[in-house]
Amino acid sequence: MSIKVTKFGGSSLASAEQFKKVADIVLSDRDRKYVVPSAPGKRFKEDNKVTDLLYKCYDEFSKGQDSSAFEEIKERYNLIIEGLGLDLSLEKEFELLKLSFIGRAGRDYAASRGEYLNGIILAKHLGFEFIDAADVIFFKNDGTFDSEKTNDIMSERLRGCENAVIPGFYGKMPNDTIKTFSRGGSDITGAIVARAAHADEYENWTDVSGFMIADPRIVDNPKYISVITYKELRELSYMGASVLHADSIFPVKAAGIPIHIKNTNAPDDPGTMIVTHTDPAADKTVITGIAGKKDFSVLTLEKDMMNEEKGFGRRLLQVLERHDLSFEHLPSGIDTMSVVINDHELSGKEDDIIADLIESCSPDTIGVEKNIALIAVVGRGMKNAKGTAAALFNSLAAADINIKMIDQGSSELNIIVGVDNKDFEKAIITTYSYFEANKLI
Ligand code: ASP
Repeated sequence: MSIKVTKFGGSSLASAEQFKKVADIVLSDRDRKYVVPSAPGKRFKEDNKVTDLLYKCYDEFSKGQDSSAFEEIKERYNLIIEGLGLDLSLEKEFELLKLSFIGRAGRDYAASRGEYLNGIILAKHLGFEFIDAADVIFFKNDGTFDSEKTNDIMSERLRGCENAVIPGFYGKMPNDTIKTFSRGGSDITGAIVARAAHADEYENWTDVSGFMIADPRIVDNPKYISVITYKELRELSYMGASVLHADSIFPVKAAGIPIHIKNTNAPDDPGTMIVTHTDPAADKTVITGIAGKKDFSVLTLEKDMMNEEKGFGRRLLQVLERHDLSFEHLPSGIDTMSVVINDHELSGKEDDIIADLIESCSPDTIGVEKNIALIAVVGRGMKNAKGTAAALFNSLAAADINIKMIDQGSSELNIIVGVDNKDFEKAIITTYSYFEANKLI
């Protein structure tokens, strides 16, 4: 028998109807032993997330004011309990919550109650044990997550427990106060539980059927990615594609546990599997995803015989460090070196940096190209497939898009091109259609 840890996001647990879907999913597979819930999310576009209501409620009560958010929170949970027909009352919990908010128990404590209360309801509905995350997830004095203590104590706790619900998003500080992860942090709890349970799979249930090959706001109906490696995911997330909390990757990646993104509203859809690696003999994928971001600047320094000058690169990077600038890429030629920097990092510092670069590196020329968008084509299959770069460049040329920069990561996992901001959407649409027509995706 294998073990699956299932995490359900806020929209999957926003109402009694959604809870019923979740219960069907969990109870249809006995491997789904441990469940990590988020707080109730939005039921419709203008709805409030319970976590946001809790922050509001805390701010109101802790200032000694009345709180309308408090009534809304109680109603959200009571509707779920009634809709499920449960013999459960959270009245005592609500009173305690109110008193501790008035007593200023802390904003993290306040926010954590969303998951805590949802966990109690879900455990009751599933007939699973409830484990308070404060008893199994620990932070250090400096506020960072204590992964080893958590793993030891949580593993031990789960060993004696057939099925459990462990609320997401929070844990305990050494002084017994509650601390939360950053927003969206129930994903992290799910990954921590998966590691501690030695799970075979970490299922992350949400309201989309996985990652898409390209951004659906730009490309009409892009296909879903069926399998992606952790490294590819890192590349695509860096470029702005987001479904999972970035910190949720580490605990499971290190333990070699795959993450399976699934849709609570379409449970039969295959979803996206995130794995450490694939079998190259069986894997025919060339391109996994296309993503990009706008608003970069490229600083280019040119100097005759740069390739023979020792220390040029070091001096250039020292200038960036002195001005507290991080850079994204560093494409270089024989006599040129460029630095790609995010516009918001550069703004306000540009003149000082150029003066410093002239002083420290004595380039023959220095230029700044602004309004650059970066587009990354990511794919583990590129390494072994000829013609991927050609397909990318052909598609852009055919669409009359000028490529201003090219950077291929040395792992051959990606090719990044820089185009004018105004060509960004067109470049992604064109590339996607060209790859699709040529069966590369
Ligand atoms: N409820 C928290 C939030 O809204 C954590 C989560 O849902 O993952 O950010």
